[in-house]
Amino acid sequence: MAAGYQVPDVPALVDQAREGRPRAVARLISLVESGAPQLREVMAALAPLTGNAYVVGLTGSPGVGKSTTTSALVTAYRRAGRRVGVLAVDPSSPFSGGALLGDRIRMSDHASDPGVYIRSMATRGHLGGLAWAAPQAVRVLDAAGCEVILVETVGVGQSEVEIAAQADTSVVLLAPGMGDGIQAAKAGILEIGDVFVVNKADRDGADATVRELGHMLGLGEARRPGDWRPPVVRTVAARAEGVDEVVAALEKHRAWMEERGVLADRRRRRAAGEVETIALTALRARIGDLRGDQRLGALAERVARGELDPYAAADDLVAGVTGGA
Ligand code: GDP
Repeated sequence: MAAGYQVPDVPALVDQAREGRPRAVARLISLVESGAPQLREVMAALAPLTGNAYVVGLTGSPGVGKSTTTSALVTAYRRAGRRVGVLAVDPSSPFSGGALLGDRIRMSDHASDPGVYIRSMATRGHLGGLAWAAPQAVRVLDAAGCEVILVETVGVGQSEVEIAAQADTSVVLLAPGMGDGIQAAKAGILEIGDVFVVNKADRDGADATVRELGHMLGLGEARRPGDWRPPVVRTVAARAEGVDEVVAALEKHRAWMEERGVLADRRRRRAAGEVETIALTALRARIGDLRGDQRLGALAERVARGELDPYAAADDLVAGVTGGA
């Protein structure tokens, strides 16, 4: 253990986080993120305090205006008196922490507001990856009393889809002239969006983007009456125009989900995914520990000789590490 390392007092940190002390919140996220030995203790202490936050995911190509929109949404929610958490997830970067945020996210307006927590999280090379790390940080923010948590993901493609799976409501941002419509269709983004935002509506081509998007959304399978129809909202995030409409669309989606039990369903599904990821990560680690172990060596030998098929060998191995044999 490094000199100067202090074993954290988890119950005290949790109490302080609950009171909304930013340092305690930051410390807990760091503990969770680094996979510290106290991780389990932290999670056990937080569990009864969670389940109250509304989690909104924001995704879109770099440059569409995610940070600007997130910042404008924070302003809008703060005006309504809500406590807000922001988690900016960068799957391409190995660096985490608060410092980088100043560069990336346009959050300086909120830096001194005690009702706002802002945190960046880098997940490259993370054990268990994005699917594991982000929900744990969301739990900390939830327990700290954030009523709305905005999870902004940098980058495109699979990471966006993963983040969407962790949100109550997913907002997909597009901007004119970026060929976004086609990209969105390719990345499977149309399926995950609950609310679409065409930002930079002050630019030429915004109408065309809205039309194209409406057309692509209409091409989806026929909806049943009462199904959610993802709205398309135009914004000029840089001037906070249209942001109240985005908030209204989010509230509408939330109400729709609550009415139909969709919110509870999504949260259960999310919890199932989380448990599965943690279990698989643990299993993988245990199997990894067996490399060079006699048991795996012996099984491999038999498979190589054709005495045993690889499925039977794998069953044997899994049963061995889970205590089933
Ligand atoms: P991100 O990479 O998706 O987070 O995008 P940013 O929020 O960093 O925005 C990228 C650039 O677009 C910045 O220079 C913003 O000032 C600018 N921008 C954001 N919203 C708008 C808008 O509504 N209109 C215009 N013209 N520019 C915008």
